Amino acid sequence: MNNGYKTSGACLCGDIQFEAELPSNWCAHCHCTLCRVAHGAGYVTWVGFESDQVHFSQGDGRLQWYESSPGAQRGFCPRCGSTLFFRSLRWKGELHIALGCLTRPIDRQPQANVFFDKHVDWMPIDNTLKQTDG
Ligand SMILES: [Zn+2]
Ligand SMILES: [Zn+2]
Repeated sequence: MNNGYKTSGACLCGDIQFEAELPSNWCAHCHCTLCRVAHGAGYVTWVGFESDQVHFSQGDGRLQWYESSPGAQRGFCPRCGSTLFFRSLRWKGELHIALGCLTRPIDRQPQANVFFDKHVDWMPIDNTLKQTDG
């Protein structure tokens, strides 16, 4: 249905730019402590793609990866510090993109609050979504 439609994204400084082919696999708000600190935000909204759906138009050689827990890495721009990506052995073959770094719409709304047991009490929450812990 969305065949050929792409979304696109970039870091704050624009050094890293990419496109992702739709459809996406899922979209969720992650309330885990690692996401919160890495992004300096109450929670982080991620959209999941197969890795081969994501293509860099600029800067993939500059992208740096930080191993935030064993087997899990966060991709960021070394110039401006934007945290763009997440990949993990737990979700092999997938690349998760921070929705806030996309510059065009995707094909779905956030569906769930995950790691909800870690959520902070100072952030408004959409309680109509499915909630999972861990
Ligand atoms: Zn940048
Ligand atoms: Zn998280």
